[in-house]
Amino acid sequence: MLRVCMGGSEASVSSCLLEQLGVAYGTVHSIPVSVVETLSSIELTRSKVGIPLGHAQDCPAAQGGGTELAGSFKIGCVTCVCDSRGRVLFTKRPMHFRAFPGNWVMPGGKVDPGETLRQAACRELHEEVGIDAREEQLELVCLWESCFPIRKSDGPLKSHVLALFFRLRLDLPFERIEVKVDSEEVDDFKWMVPSQVAEVLGIEDVSEGHKFALKFL
Ligand SMILES: [Zn+2]
Repeated sequence: MLRVCMGGSEASVSSCLLEQLGVAYGTVHSIPVSVVETLSSIELTRSKVGIPLGHAQDCPAAQGGGTELAGSFKIGCVTCVCDSRGRVLFTKRPMHFRAFPGNWVMPGGKVDPGETLRQAACRELHEEVGIDAREEQLELVCLWESCFPIRKSDGPLKSHVLALFFRLRLDLPFERIEVKVDSEEVDDFKWMVPSQVAEVLGIEDVSEGHKFALKFL
């Protein structure tokens, strides 16, 4: 079992999450885990049936790669907003962002100290795209260990995050859903058919974690 602490003191993780759950480097890139959320931590346990946890094939945090970031590990929440016809909302990150500049992502962000995961997801959704959701509407679909830069060869890690992907199903077609973007955090938005996201937005501009999550929508 791996306990990931939330809040201010996030020193509990300094290397690859899958390695810490007993996965040998380079073998599998996704395992099912059971997820137990407490007020101050998330507990991940490898299990036969569970929520998929994935990471990059050449995870930069594996084999001692995350030690320079010890103490700055973060937890993030992403919301996959689906309209009544299965389209999903993507937003474009501004070029001045330190991690994943210009990438197309689903709305989300870091969990603040004192927040639950779902509170963070609802807050980010409201701030970034002006959509209001209730916590009980969010369904956890998968987890992704997100590193930036995404490849070991691109230099030392600047960001190491466990991203939890929630699905929010709305009963309206996208034409009737009002999206009000925060221009500080979002450059543009698009409603996409999940199977066409990488093709339409550009394979390099959609992160591997988001492509992973699209498989479970
Ligand atoms: Zn990893």
